[in-house]
Amino acid sequence: MARIDITDLVKVYDSGDESIVAVEDLDLGVKDGEFLVLVGPSGCGKSTTLRCIAGLEDVTEGSIHFGDREVTDLRGSERDVAMVFQNYALYPHMTVRQNIGFGLKLSSSLPSAEIAERVESVAEMLGITPLLDDKPKELSGGQQQRVALGRAIVREPAVFLMDEPLSNLDAKLRAEMRTELQELQHDLDVTTVYVTHDQTEAMAMGDRIAVMNDGILQQVGPPEDVYRSPANEFVATFIGSPSINLLTAEVDGTTLSGPAGFTYELSNPEPVEGRSRVRVGVRPEDITLVKGGSNRATVSVVEPMGNENFCYMELGEHELTARIDPTLRPQAGEEVAFAFDESALYLFDVDTGEALKTKTDAVAAGIGTEAR
Ligand code: ADP
Repeated sequence: MARIDITDLVKVYDSGDESIVAVEDLDLGVKDGEFLVLVGPSGCGKSTTLRCIAGLEDVTEGSIHFGDREVTDLRGSERDVAMVFQNYALYPHMTVRQNIGFGLKLSSSLPSAEIAERVESVAEMLGITPLLDDKPKELSGGQQQRVALGRAIVREPAVFLMDEPLSNLDAKLRAEMRTELQELQHDLDVTTVYVTHDQTEAMAMGDRIAVMNDGILQQVGPPEDVYRSPANEFVATFIGSPSINLLTAEVDGTTLSGPAGFTYELSNPEPVEGRSRVRVGVRPEDITLVKGGSNRATVSVVEPMGNENFCYMELGEHELTARIDPTLRPQAGEEVAFAFDESALYLFDVDTGEALKTKTDAVAAGIGTEAR
Protein backbone atom coordinates (compact mmCIF):
# COMPACT_ATOMS: atom_id res chain seq x y z
CA MET A 1 0.00 0.00 0.00
CA ALA A 2 1.08 3.53 -0.65
CA ARG A 3 -0.05 7.06 -0.88
CA ILE A 4 0.57 8.78 -4.20
CA ASP A 5 1.92 12.31 -4.45
CA ILE A 6 1.95 14.02 -7.80
CA THR A 7 3.83 17.32 -7.73
CA ASP A 8 3.87 20.00 -10.48
CA LEU A 9 3.29 17.39 -13.15
CA VAL A 10 3.49 18.63 -16.73
CA LYS A 11 3.09 16.43 -19.78
CA VAL A 12 3.62 17.89 -23.22
CA TYR A 13 3.25 15.81 -26.39
CA ASP A 14 5.21 16.98 -29.39
CA SER A 15 3.50 15.87 -32.54
CA GLY A 16 5.15 17.36 -35.65
CA ASP A 17 5.42 21.10 -35.21
CA GLU A 18 2.63 21.19 -32.66
CA SER A 19 2.98 20.86 -28.89
CA ILE A 20 0.01 19.64 -26.92
CA VAL A 21 -0.01 20.37 -23.20
CA ALA A 22 -2.00 17.35 -22.01
CA VAL A 23 -1.44 17.96 -18.28
CA GLU A 24 -0.50 21.31 -16.76
CA ASP A 25 1.02 21.83 -13.30
CA LEU A 26 -0.89 19.04 -11.63
CA ASP A 27 -0.64 18.73 -7.86
CA LEU A 28 -2.61 15.81 -6.52
CA GLY A 29 -2.31 13.57 -3.48
CA VAL A 30 -4.05 10.22 -3.23
CA LYS A 31 -4.35 8.86 0.30
CA ASP A 32 -3.24 5.39 1.28
CA GLY A 33 -6.09 2.98 0.48
CA GLU A 34 -8.21 5.68 -1.13
CA PHE A 35 -10.42 5.27 -4.20
CA LEU A 36 -9.82 8.44 -6.19
CA VAL A 37 -11.69 9.05 -9.42
CA LEU A 38 -10.20 11.29 -12.10
CA VAL A 39 -13.10 12.68 -14.10
CA GLY A 40 -13.52 15.18 -16.92
CA PRO A 41 -14.54 15.47 -20.56
CA SER A 42 -12.75 13.57 -23.29
CA GLY A 43 -9.28 14.97 -23.98
CA CYS A 44 -8.89 16.72 -20.60
CA GLY A 45 -5.76 14.74 -19.67
CA LYS A 46 -7.11 11.95 -17.43
CA SER A 47 -5.53 9.02 -19.25
CA THR A 48 -2.26 10.88 -19.64
CA THR A 49 -2.16 11.49 -15.89
CA LEU A 50 -2.86 7.82 -15.23
CA ARG A 51 -0.24 6.73 -17.74
CA CYS A 52 2.32 8.98 -16.05
CA ILE A 53 1.50 7.35 -12.69
CA ALA A 54 1.81 3.93 -14.33
CA GLY A 55 5.18 4.73 -15.88
CA LEU A 56 3.84 4.29 -19.40
CA GLU A 57 4.66 7.91 -20.26
CA ASP A 58 7.72 9.98 -19.39
CA VAL A 59 6.77 13.14 -17.55
CA THR A 60 7.88 16.46 -19.05
CA GLU A 61 8.23 18.11 -15.63
CA GLY A 62 7.36 17.31 -12.05
CA SER A 63 7.60 14.30 -9.80
CA ILE A 64 5.59 11.30 -8.65
CA HIS A 65 6.07 9.57 -5.30
CA PHE A 66 4.54 6.37 -3.95
CA GLY A 67 4.90 6.82 -0.21
CA ASP A 68 8.50 7.91 0.38
CA ARG A 69 9.70 6.34 -2.84
CA GLU A 70 10.18 8.57 -5.86
CA VAL A 71 9.04 6.67 -8.96
CA THR A 72 9.19 9.48 -11.55
CA ASP A 73 12.00 7.89 -13.53
CA LEU A 74 11.28 4.25 -12.78
CA ARG A 75 9.96 1.95 -15.45
CA GLY A 76 6.37 0.76 -15.06
CA SER A 77 7.53 -2.74 -14.15
CA GLU A 78 9.54 -1.31 -11.24
CA ARG A 79 6.65 0.69 -9.75
CA ASP A 80 4.48 -2.08 -8.29
CA VAL A 81 1.30 -0.93 -10.05
CA ALA A 82 -1.39 -2.97 -11.77
CA MET A 83 -3.51 -1.47 -14.50
CA VAL A 84 -6.95 -2.39 -15.78
CA PHE A 85 -8.09 -0.95 -19.11
CA GLN A 86 -11.30 -0.71 -21.07
CA ASN A 87 -9.86 -3.18 -23.55
CA TYR A 88 -8.88 -5.94 -21.23
CA ALA A 89 -7.06 -7.98 -23.89
CA LEU A 90 -7.03 -11.42 -22.34
CA TYR A 91 -4.81 -14.02 -23.99
CA PRO A 92 -7.27 -15.98 -26.14
CA HIS A 93 -5.36 -19.27 -26.11
CA MET A 94 -5.00 -19.35 -22.31
CA THR A 95 -7.58 -20.47 -19.77
CA VAL A 96 -8.92 -18.08 -17.15
CA ARG A 97 -6.56 -19.66 -14.63
CA GLN A 98 -3.57 -19.09 -16.89
CA ASN A 99 -4.67 -15.56 -17.77
CA ILE A 100 -4.89 -14.58 -14.10
CA GLY A 101 -1.63 -16.24 -13.11
CA PHE A 102 0.47 -15.30 -16.13
CA GLY A 103 1.57 -11.82 -15.05
CA LEU A 104 2.48 -13.07 -11.62
CA LYS A 105 4.52 -15.87 -13.10
CA LEU A 106 6.48 -13.37 -15.21
CA SER A 107 6.93 -10.68 -12.60
CA SER A 108 7.67 -12.69 -9.48
CA SER A 109 9.73 -15.61 -8.31
CA LEU A 110 6.84 -17.15 -6.40
CA PRO A 111 6.66 -20.96 -6.47
CA SER A 112 3.97 -22.38 -8.78
CA ALA A 113 1.99 -23.77 -5.86
CA GLU A 114 1.67 -20.33 -4.30
CA ILE A 115 0.69 -18.75 -7.61
CA ALA A 116 -1.98 -21.43 -8.06
CA GLU A 117 -3.27 -20.75 -4.56
CA ARG A 118 -3.43 -17.00 -5.11
CA VAL A 119 -5.24 -17.47 -8.44
CA GLU A 120 -7.81 -19.68 -6.72
CA SER A 121 -8.43 -17.21 -3.95
CA VAL A 122 -8.77 -14.24 -6.33
CA ALA A 123 -11.15 -16.24 -8.53
CA GLU A 124 -13.25 -16.98 -5.49
CA MET A 125 -13.28 -13.33 -4.49
CA LEU A 126 -14.54 -12.43 -7.97
CA GLY A 127 -17.04 -15.29 -8.17
CA ILE A 128 -15.42 -16.86 -11.23
CA THR A 129 -14.13 -20.14 -9.76
CA PRO A 130 -16.36 -22.27 -12.06
CA LEU A 131 -14.81 -20.52 -15.08
CA LEU A 132 -11.15 -21.16 -14.23
CA ASP A 133 -10.67 -23.73 -17.00
CA ASP A 134 -12.63 -21.81 -19.66
CA LYS A 135 -11.09 -19.80 -22.46
CA PRO A 136 -11.93 -16.07 -22.80
CA LYS A 137 -14.15 -16.60 -25.85
CA GLU A 138 -16.49 -18.72 -23.73
CA LEU A 139 -17.06 -15.82 -21.31
CA SER A 140 -19.50 -12.91 -21.31
CA GLY A 141 -18.21 -9.33 -21.30
CA GLY A 142 -18.72 -9.03 -17.55
CA GLN A 143 -16.90 -12.29 -16.88
CA GLN A 144 -13.99 -11.22 -19.08
CA GLN A 145 -13.78 -7.96 -17.17
CA ARG A 146 -13.67 -9.89 -13.89
CA VAL A 147 -10.77 -11.95 -15.25
CA ALA A 148 -8.93 -8.75 -16.19
CA LEU A 149 -9.52 -7.47 -12.65
CA GLY A 150 -8.32 -10.80 -11.26
CA ARG A 151 -5.12 -10.46 -13.23
CA ALA A 152 -4.51 -7.10 -11.54
CA ILE A 153 -5.57 -8.14 -8.04
CA VAL A 154 -3.51 -11.34 -7.95
CA ARG A 155 -0.31 -9.31 -8.13
CA GLU A 156 -1.17 -7.56 -4.86
CA PRO A 157 0.19 -4.25 -6.15
CA ALA A 158 0.79 -1.09 -4.14
CA VAL A 159 -1.44 0.84 -6.53
CA PHE A 160 -4.34 0.01 -8.85
CA LEU A 161 -4.79 2.13 -11.93
CA MET A 162 -8.03 1.77 -13.87
CA ASP A 163 -8.84 3.47 -17.15
CA GLU A 164 -12.57 3.35 -17.96
CA PRO A 165 -12.61 -0.37 -17.09
CA LEU A 166 -16.40 -0.68 -17.24
CA SER A 167 -17.22 1.23 -20.38
CA ASN A 168 -17.53 -1.85 -22.60
CA LEU A 169 -20.27 -3.30 -20.43
CA ASP A 170 -23.99 -2.71 -20.85
CA ALA A 171 -25.71 -0.29 -18.46
CA LYS A 172 -27.08 -2.88 -16.02
CA LEU A 173 -23.85 -4.85 -15.73
CA ARG A 174 -21.88 -1.63 -15.43
CA ALA A 175 -23.97 -0.59 -12.44
CA GLU A 176 -23.47 -4.01 -10.82
CA MET A 177 -19.74 -4.02 -11.46
CA ARG A 178 -19.43 -0.50 -10.04
CA THR A 179 -20.69 -1.74 -6.71
CA GLU A 180 -18.60 -4.90 -6.84
CA LEU A 181 -15.46 -3.04 -7.72
CA GLN A 182 -15.99 -0.56 -4.92
CA GLU A 183 -16.53 -3.34 -2.39
CA LEU A 184 -13.51 -5.18 -3.65
CA GLN A 185 -11.33 -2.10 -3.48
CA HIS A 186 -12.56 -1.41 0.02
CA ASP A 187 -11.77 -4.98 1.12
CA LEU A 188 -8.35 -5.01 -0.52
CA ASP A 189 -7.58 -1.50 0.73
CA VAL A 190 -5.26 -0.79 -2.20
CA THR A 191 -4.76 2.83 -3.26
CA THR A 192 -6.71 3.20 -6.51
CA VAL A 193 -6.89 5.82 -9.23
CA TYR A 194 -9.85 5.32 -11.53
CA VAL A 195 -10.39 7.28 -14.74
CA THR A 196 -13.81 7.94 -16.23
CA HIS A 197 -15.52 10.60 -18.35
CA ASP A 198 -18.82 9.62 -16.73
CA GLN A 199 -19.68 11.93 -13.86
CA THR A 200 -22.37 9.56 -12.56
CA GLU A 201 -19.79 6.81 -12.24
CA ALA A 202 -17.39 9.21 -10.54
CA MET A 203 -20.02 10.37 -8.06
CA ALA A 204 -21.09 6.81 -7.31
CA MET A 205 -17.64 5.31 -6.85
CA GLY A 206 -15.09 7.80 -5.61
CA ASP A 207 -14.07 8.40 -2.00
CA ARG A 208 -12.96 11.64 -3.60
CA ILE A 209 -13.20 12.87 -7.16
CA ALA A 210 -10.68 15.01 -9.02
CA VAL A 211 -12.28 17.03 -11.81
CA MET A 212 -10.03 17.98 -14.75
CA ASN A 213 -10.61 20.26 -17.72
CA ASP A 214 -8.19 21.15 -20.47
CA GLY A 215 -5.22 19.58 -18.70
CA ILE A 216 -5.91 21.52 -15.51
CA LEU A 217 -7.17 20.14 -12.21
CA GLN A 218 -10.30 22.09 -11.27
CA GLN A 219 -11.20 20.64 -7.88
CA VAL A 220 -10.66 17.62 -5.64
CA GLY A 221 -13.01 16.51 -2.90
CA PRO A 222 -15.64 14.05 -1.74
CA PRO A 223 -18.36 13.76 -4.42
CA GLU A 224 -21.03 15.45 -2.33
CA ASP A 225 -18.78 18.42 -1.55
CA VAL A 226 -17.90 18.90 -5.20
CA TYR A 227 -21.59 18.73 -6.09
CA ARG A 228 -22.70 21.17 -3.41
CA SER A 229 -19.72 23.49 -3.51
CA PRO A 230 -18.17 23.47 -6.97
CA ALA A 231 -15.08 25.65 -7.30
CA ASN A 232 -16.30 27.14 -10.55
CA GLU A 233 -18.93 27.10 -13.24
CA PHE A 234 -17.21 24.32 -15.19
CA VAL A 235 -17.34 21.92 -12.24
CA ALA A 236 -20.93 22.94 -11.44
CA THR A 237 -21.94 22.16 -15.02
CA PHE A 238 -19.95 18.96 -15.40
CA ILE A 239 -21.09 17.34 -12.15
CA GLY A 240 -24.82 16.66 -11.89
CA SER A 241 -27.41 15.28 -14.26
CA PRO A 242 -29.53 16.91 -15.56
CA SER A 243 -27.08 19.79 -15.55
CA ILE A 244 -27.35 22.88 -13.38
CA ASN A 245 -29.44 25.72 -14.88
CA LEU A 246 -27.40 28.82 -15.63
CA LEU A 247 -28.14 32.32 -16.82
CA THR A 248 -26.52 35.74 -16.73
CA ALA A 249 -28.18 38.41 -14.60
CA GLU A 250 -27.69 42.13 -14.06
CA VAL A 251 -27.04 43.17 -10.48
CA ASP A 252 -28.74 46.20 -8.98
CA GLY A 253 -28.26 46.35 -5.21
CA THR A 254 -30.11 43.30 -3.93
CA THR A 255 -31.92 42.57 -7.20
CA LEU A 256 -30.80 40.16 -9.92
CA SER A 257 -32.51 40.61 -13.29
CA GLY A 258 -32.15 38.04 -16.03
CA PRO A 259 -33.70 37.17 -19.37
CA ALA A 260 -37.46 37.08 -20.07
CA GLY A 261 -38.40 39.05 -16.95
CA PHE A 262 -36.51 36.81 -14.51
CA THR A 263 -35.85 38.60 -11.22
CA TYR A 264 -34.51 37.45 -7.87
CA GLU A 265 -34.36 39.41 -4.64
CA LEU A 266 -31.30 38.52 -2.55
CA SER A 267 -31.54 38.72 1.21
CA ASN A 268 -27.75 38.52 1.31
CA PRO A 269 -26.23 40.55 -1.56
CA GLU A 270 -22.69 40.27 -0.17
CA PRO A 271 -21.44 37.79 -2.86
CA VAL A 272 -22.40 40.22 -5.67
CA GLU A 273 -21.33 43.47 -4.06
CA GLY A 274 -19.43 45.71 -6.49
CA ARG A 275 -20.53 43.66 -9.53
CA SER A 276 -22.79 44.70 -12.37
CA ARG A 277 -23.39 41.20 -13.73
CA VAL A 278 -23.24 37.68 -12.37
CA ARG A 279 -23.86 34.12 -13.52
CA VAL A 280 -26.77 32.57 -11.65
CA GLY A 281 -27.09 28.81 -11.22
CA VAL A 282 -29.76 26.58 -9.72
CA ARG A 283 -29.91 22.80 -9.77
CA PRO A 284 -32.99 21.13 -11.30
CA GLU A 285 -33.99 19.53 -7.99
CA ASP A 286 -34.10 22.92 -6.28
CA ILE A 287 -36.65 24.47 -8.62
CA THR A 288 -40.26 24.14 -7.58
CA LEU A 289 -43.35 25.00 -9.57
CA VAL A 290 -45.52 27.39 -7.57
CA LYS A 291 -49.03 28.78 -7.82
CA GLY A 292 -48.23 32.44 -8.22
CA GLY A 293 -45.00 34.33 -8.64
CA SER A 294 -43.19 36.73 -10.88
CA ASN A 295 -40.78 34.24 -12.43
CA ARG A 296 -42.54 32.45 -15.24
CA ALA A 297 -41.44 30.03 -17.93
CA THR A 298 -43.16 28.05 -20.68
CA VAL A 299 -43.18 24.27 -20.46
CA SER A 300 -41.67 22.57 -23.51
CA VAL A 301 -41.53 18.88 -22.53
CA VAL A 302 -42.23 16.78 -19.45
CA GLU A 303 -40.33 13.49 -19.21
CA PRO A 304 -41.70 11.01 -16.69
CA MET A 305 -38.94 9.11 -14.85
CA GLY A 306 -41.24 7.08 -12.62
CA ASN A 307 -40.14 8.45 -9.27
CA GLU A 308 -40.03 12.03 -10.59
CA ASN A 309 -40.64 14.07 -13.72
CA PHE A 310 -38.11 16.14 -15.61
CA CYS A 311 -39.83 19.35 -16.63
CA TYR A 312 -38.06 21.26 -19.43
CA MET A 313 -39.11 24.89 -19.72
CA GLU A 314 -38.21 27.90 -21.80
CA LEU A 315 -37.23 31.15 -20.18
CA GLY A 316 -36.81 33.39 -23.21
CA GLU A 317 -34.00 31.72 -25.15
CA HIS A 318 -32.84 29.76 -22.10
CA GLU A 319 -33.84 26.22 -21.30
CA LEU A 320 -34.59 25.52 -17.66
CA THR A 321 -34.90 22.03 -16.21
CA ALA A 322 -36.79 21.20 -13.03
CA ARG A 323 -37.08 17.82 -11.33
CA ILE A 324 -40.61 17.77 -10.06
CA ASP A 325 -43.04 15.50 -8.28
CA PRO A 326 -44.28 12.65 -10.54
CA THR A 327 -47.88 13.66 -9.87
CA LEU A 328 -47.26 17.04 -11.52
CA ARG A 329 -47.75 16.92 -15.29
CA PRO A 330 -47.87 20.46 -16.69
CA GLN A 331 -48.75 20.53 -20.38
CA ALA A 332 -46.41 21.59 -23.18
CA GLY A 333 -47.05 25.25 -23.92
CA GLU A 334 -48.38 25.94 -20.43
CA GLU A 335 -46.95 28.93 -18.59
CA VAL A 336 -45.84 28.05 -15.07
CA ALA A 337 -44.40 30.03 -12.19
CA PHE A 338 -41.23 28.73 -10.56
CA ALA A 339 -39.24 29.53 -7.46
CA PHE A 340 -36.18 28.42 -5.50
CA ASP A 341 -34.60 29.16 -2.14
CA GLU A 342 -31.65 31.46 -1.83
CA SER A 343 -29.84 28.71 0.10
CA ALA A 344 -29.87 26.65 -3.12
CA LEU A 345 -28.60 29.48 -5.29
CA TYR A 346 -25.16 29.35 -6.96
CA LEU A 347 -23.41 32.50 -8.16
CA PHE A 348 -20.35 32.63 -10.42
CA ASP A 349 -18.04 35.34 -11.72
CA VAL A 350 -19.12 36.27 -15.26
CA ASP A 351 -15.57 36.29 -16.61
CA THR A 352 -13.59 33.70 -14.66
CA GLY A 353 -16.42 31.33 -13.71
CA GLU A 354 -15.12 31.27 -10.14
CA ALA A 355 -17.80 30.42 -7.57
CA LEU A 356 -18.98 33.39 -5.49
CA LYS A 357 -21.68 31.50 -3.63
CA THR A 358 -22.67 27.84 -3.50
CA LYS A 359 -25.32 25.96 -1.57
CA THR A 360 -25.64 27.17 1.99
CA ASP A 361 -28.42 24.98 3.32
CA ALA A 362 -27.44 22.60 6.11
CA VAL A 363 -26.72 18.96 5.31
CA ALA A 364 -28.63 16.56 7.53
CA ALA A 365 -26.17 14.75 9.75
CA GLY A 366 -26.75 11.26 11.04
CA ILE A 367 -27.03 7.85 9.44
CA GLY A 368 -24.03 6.93 7.34
CA THR A 369 -21.81 9.83 8.30
CA GLU A 370 -19.33 7.50 9.96
CA ALA A 371 -18.92 5.28 6.91
CA ARG A 372 -15.33 4.75 5.77
P1 ADP B 1 -8.57 11.95 -21.66
O1 ADP B 1 -8.06 10.69 -21.08
O2 ADP B 1 -9.04 12.92 -20.63
O3 ADP B 1 -9.59 11.73 -22.73
P2 ADP B 1 -5.91 12.20 -22.76
O4 ADP B 1 -5.04 12.20 -21.58
O5 ADP B 1 -6.03 10.94 -23.55
O6 ADP B 1 -7.36 12.73 -22.37
O7 ADP B 1 -5.43 13.34 -23.77
C1 ADP B 1 -5.13 14.67 -23.36
C2 ADP B 1 -4.65 15.45 -24.57
O8 ADP B 1 -3.40 14.93 -25.00
C3 ADP B 1 -5.57 15.39 -25.76
O9 ADP B 1 -5.53 16.63 -26.41
C4 ADP B 1 -4.95 14.32 -26.62
O10 ADP B 1 -5.26 14.53 -27.99
C5 ADP B 1 -3.47 14.50 -26.35
N1 ADP B 1 -2.73 13.24 -26.46
C6 ADP B 1 -2.90 12.10 -25.75
N2 ADP B 1 -2.01 11.15 -26.08
C7 ADP B 1 -1.24 11.70 -27.05
C8 ADP B 1 -0.11 11.23 -27.82
N3 ADP B 1 0.38 10.00 -27.65
N4 ADP B 1 0.43 12.07 -28.72
C9 ADP B 1 -0.06 13.32 -28.92
N5 ADP B 1 -1.11 13.83 -28.22
C10 ADP B 1 -1.70 13.04 -27.31
